[in-house]
Amino acid sequence: MSANTEKYALLIDYEFCTGCHSCEVACKKELELPFGKYGIKLLQHGPTEVYPDQWEWNYIPFPTKLCDLCETRVASGRLPGCVHNCQAGCMQFGTIEELTPHLALKPNRVIFSPK
Ligand code: SF4
Ligand code: SF4
Repeated sequence: MSANTEKYALLIDYEFCTGCHSCEVACKKELELPFGKYGIKLLQHGPTEVYPDQWEWNYIPFPTKLCDLCETRVASGRLPGCVHNCQAGCMQFGTIEELTPHLALKPNRVIFSPK
């Protein structure tokens, strides 16, 4: 096993992200961040008319440099705050090795490895 595959990451299925901001709020609470600072920030693209009368509106939460992958929570056996609080179930936590096969199962998924 290479060193890279032992790194932890977040898998985000942005097709099912509703843009609810719960991950952002949970992360700010976990990291005790002040106003204007984020460990994960919801980004929005659209609405864009991709075909006549067909509109695209995408959301995706982007982990920042402040994300420590919830070291403290994970060390106590809990899921990261963002993953635990995503009601849409579109976030997963694991090693890069564990998460990478999920990319092949469907499109519109990304893996972030902020640390
Ligand atoms: S893993 Fe923890 S620190 Fe990183 S974005 Fe999620 S809640 Fe924030
Ligand atoms: S909690 Fe889940 S559904 Fe809500 S914005 Fe974050 S990733 Fe999207």
